This record gives sequence, C-alpha cells and structure tokens, in this order.
Amino acid sequence: MNKTFSESLSIALSGAKPQVEWLVPLLSCSDEDAVELYKAADEVRAANVGSAVHFRALLECSSYCIKNCCYCGLRKANSTVSRYRLSEEEMIDGAKQAVELGYKSLVIQSGEDMWYTADRMAHIVSSIKKVADLAITLSLGERDKETYQKWFDAGADRYLLRIETTDPELFAFIHPDDDLNYRKQCLYNIRDIGYQLGTGVMQGIPGQTATTLANDVIWMHELGAEMIGVGPFIPHPETPLGKETGGTVNDTLRLVAVLRLVFPCAHLPATTAMGSLNPKGREMALQAGANVVMPNITPTTFRPQYEIYPGKICLGDDAAHCRGCITGRITSIGRTVGTDKGHVIRREKKEV
Ligand code: SAH
Ligand code: SF4
Repeated sequence: MNKTFSESLSIALSGAKPQVEWLVPLLSCSDEDAVELYKAADEVRAANVGSAVHFRALLECSSYCIKNCCYCGLRKANSTVSRYRLSEEEMIDGAKQAVELGYKSLVIQSGEDMWYTADRMAHIVSSIKKVADLAITLSLGERDKETYQKWFDAGADRYLLRIETTDPELFAFIHPDDDLNYRKQCLYNIRDIGYQLGTGVMQGIPGQTATTLANDVIWMHELGAEMIGVGPFIPHPETPLGKETGGTVNDTLRLVAVLRLVFPCAHLPATTAMGSLNPKGREMALQAGANVVMPNITPTTFRPQYEIYPGKICLGDDAAHCRGCITGRITSIGRTVGTDKGHVIRREKKEV
C-alpha cells in the first residue's frame, strides 16, 4: 500500500532505505506537493553538499558507435549522422583548453567506439594527466573489466555508465544488443576497481512508470552510486522510438529531488537534456537537488554531429562562451561555482 505524500516525505527525510511504497507517491506527486518536495531536496542538498555547483567540462570525442540503442541518434544504423572522432592530440588540446578555462574536471564521452582500444585510451588518459591537473571521468560505454582496470591505472578517476532502466523487459526493448545483467556487471566492476561511480536513467522511456523509476532508485542505492545523471528521454526522429512521446522536465525534477533525498551526498547533474527541453531546465534542477553542470568543450565544428537527441543546446557556442553562460546561470540563482575538483564525498572517508 502506498503512503500519502506527507508520510512519504517524512520517511525520505528520516534517511530510511528506499522502498517503492514511499518512492512512488513522491515521484508522482501533484504540482502543489512538488513545491514542497523540491524545497526539501534543496535543503538536503544545501546541508550535505553545500552551495557549490561543480563544473564537469564535457569533451564528446567520437560519434562512432557499434551499438543500436533504440533511443539514441548515434546508433549505428542511423546513416544520416556524420561521424567524427578526435585524435589523441586533439583530446590533449581539449584538456589543456579545459585547464585554461579554469575547469578542474573533464568528462570524456563517446559512442562505443572501438578505435579507442584499451591501450590507446590508457595512453590518452595518462598523457592528459601529465599535462593537465584535471579529475578525469570516462563515459565510453561497456568494456571488459581488464579495460576498465587499465584506464583506472592510467589515471582515470571516475566512470559514468547509465543503467538506463532496471526493468528487464524495458531494458531489452530499448537495447537490441545489450544484456541487463552484463550492464550491471560492468557497473559492479567499475565500482570494485575503485572508480568514483556514476550511473543514471532516462525519464519517460515508453512503458516506464513511477514504479519502474522507484525500482531503479532502489537498485542504484544497492549499487552504491555516487554520481547519478538523469534526464528526460527526447525522441530522435531517426530512431525506432522517434515517434514516441518523450519525458518531461516536471517528471525529471521529481526524480532529481527524490534522488537528493535518498542520496544526500551524491553528485547530481542538472543535465543538458533538461536545458534542451526548457531554457531554465538546468536552473530548475539545481533548485530541486542537483549540484553539478556539464559545460560543453567539444570543438563547435563537431558538436552538431554528436546528436544523441534533437534540439541539444549550445551547439554553436564555443567553450569560453559556455563557461560564462553557465557561470551566470549559477550565480543568478544565488549559488557558487565549485573551486576544487569536486570529488565524490564518501561518508566514511569524507573527501577521497
Ligand atoms: N555511449 C555511451 C555514452 C554516450 S550516450 C553510453 O551509452 O553510455 C550518453 C547518454 O545519453 C546515455 O546514457 C543516454 O542516457 C543518453 N541519451 C541517449 N539518447 C538519448 C535521448 N534520445 N534522449 C535523452 N537522453 C539520451
Ligand atoms: Fe551508442 Fe551510447 Fe547511443 Fe547506445 S546510448 S547508441 S551506446 S552512444
């Protein structure tokens, strides 16, 4: 039996282990109750991770992908997308530019592109570490444990791999060439190797319900996720889900707020997908529990080619412009820009 909204909020604030019976009423609450939910999440954010919003400079290094995820514009079968790939030198230049712009943290993301072999990416990571004082996050999809280990040994600090959904049928429906258990194993491997662990889900995948999302939250809690990225699903016309209805800013905000209550110390980004659906989407997320933003530093010539969904913001803005724009957005809501690398906060060890 589901609890009422008020009961659910009290249980969440007591730090209880997440359960469907109180997650669902929060995830599907009315607009009126949502005001209270966001306020509570904002207070938990302030008390646990403070006012700082951490920047993660995002370098999208390749639009090649061997996979056919049904939601994503980069899927292999989409012949309308033109593919690009940054060389090792271009990536090192990107990292140097990130430092010049004052960033302390770099996210390297791409489609599943096997040109970046285990050794080649390890070399790129260690080369960047030699010339740039940056925390490095990789988001390069599924690989075997040896490869993850090699990249960690080369100096990568964090890894992002969204589970997307923990519902076995839904996962299979949207991932024709992936296996849910293998994806979970990848995340266990990433965690056990010692990376700061990032995962997340899309809100609004066709067939997803509040109960599906509640189960996702429970699973990510069991996993011990330390960074959780959630964004609305935005249908891409050149994909099998192109004609479906997408996710919404409102529903994603509820999810962000719930995540803050369940994971008081986690790093939660205000995702680009939120900003793409609503000009103030990222600010709204930052006021409902989020504490991270990911300004783009991909060379503008390549940005339109990294079209995971349509209507992605900032395609024509160079890296310096993005930094200024996002800084303005953060200060406009009374928050500060993080000045350190923004490592995850581990309760038992504090700063790692
Ligand atoms: N290839 C890597 C990283 C690139 S995709 C990977 O799959 O992990 C990064 C994220 O973009 C995915 O995890 C997915 O959640 C999100 N994404 C892809 N297509 C999307 C869409 N149509 N709408 C919203 N988010 C999308
Ligand atoms: Fe490739 Fe990632 Fe897009 Fe799937 S979500 S098609 S793995 S880029």
